[in-house]
Amino acid sequence: MSKDIATPNRTKEILKKYGFSFKKSLGQNFLIDTNVLNNIVDCADLETSSGAIEIGPGIGALTEQIAKRCEKVVAFEIDQRLLPILNETLAPYPHVKIVHSDVLEADIHSVIKENFKEGQDLMVVANLPYYVTTPILLKLLEEKLPIRGIVVMIQKEVAERIAAKPGTKEYGSLSIATQYYAEATTELIVPKTVFVPQPNVDSAVLKLTLRSEPAVDLKDESFFFQLVKASFAQRRKTLMNNLTHNLFTKNEKEKLELKMQECGIDPSRRGETLSMDEFAALANALVGLKA
Ligand code: SAM
Repeated sequence: MSKDIATPNRTKEILKKYGFSFKKSLGQNFLIDTNVLNNIVDCADLETSSGAIEIGPGIGALTEQIAKRCEKVVAFEIDQRLLPILNETLAPYPHVKIVHSDVLEADIHSVIKENFKEGQDLMVVANLPYYVTTPILLKLLEEKLPIRGIVVMIQKEVAERIAAKPGTKEYGSLSIATQYYAEATTELIVPKTVFVPQPNVDSAVLKLTLRSEPAVDLKDESFFFQLVKASFAQRRKTLMNNLTHNLFTKNEKEKLELKMQECGIDPSRRGETLSMDEFAALANALVGLKA
C-alpha cells in the first residue's frame, strides 16, 4: 500500500500532480503530520463498528486515518477541485463516501439516515475550515444529530472560548451556547508547522461530548439565548446595564431588580461571572416580563 497521504512528500506530489492551488477563502490548511492526525483520531475513541462524519476532507489526510479505525466515513467537501484527488487518494478505502456539499447547506440528518445504521455509534471528526468554525459547530449542536460527540481541530482561541468556565476572560455566549448541548474540553494544542500552508494562528483540538439532555431546564430556549447574548453585549457593563440597554427598557429596571433579587443574583455583577445555572434561573424568571 502507498505511503500515508499526510507525509510532506506525498502531499507535495499529490498537489503537484493535480496543479492544486490553495484557496484561503475556503480555509484550506492541510495537515502533513501523521502523528497529529492519529492524536486527533485517538480523541474520538472510535470502535471498529463506529461511523464517522468528516467536514472538509481536503486531499484525504485525516479521512484516511479515520477510515483505518472505523466501519464507515462520510465526508462533506465544498471544493469540487478536490473530488478527483480524493477519488485517487482514498481509493484503498471503499467505506469512505464523499458528499460534494457546503456542510452549512447540507441536510445532515438525511445523510446520516442514508449512510449509517440506526443506533450506530457516530462521531464528527474534522480539521475545520477556520472561517466557518462557529456556524458549523452550532449547526451540528442545534440540529440535535444522533451523534456521540465532535472532535475538531480549530483555532486555539476559539477552542478556549468554547471550553471556558465562568469568571474567566474567555467565557462568553459561545461557551454557553456550546456547553448547553455538550461537555467541552481542549485536548491538544497544535503548532502551525504541521500544516501547509501554515495558518496565522495556533490551533487546538476541541472535544465536545454531547449531553443526553441539555445542561439546564428552560421555559423558553430562544429567550435564554437572547438573555445570554444581551448580558455579554458589552463586557465591562454590569448585568443590569447590559439588560436594560439590549433586551429590556430602562422603565423595566425595578421589575428586573426584583426578579434578580429573587434569583439571588446581584444586578451589579458582570455577565461573565454568571454560571449557566444562574443564567437559566434568570431566564426562567424573566421570560414572562418580556412581551
Ligand atoms: N481535512 C483536511 C486536512 O486536515 O488536511 C483539510 C482541512 S482544511 C482546514 C478545511 C477543508 O474544508 C478544505 O478541504 C475546504 O475545502 C473544506 N471546506 C471549506 N468550507 C467548507 C464548507 N462550508 N463545507 C464543506 N467543506 C468545506
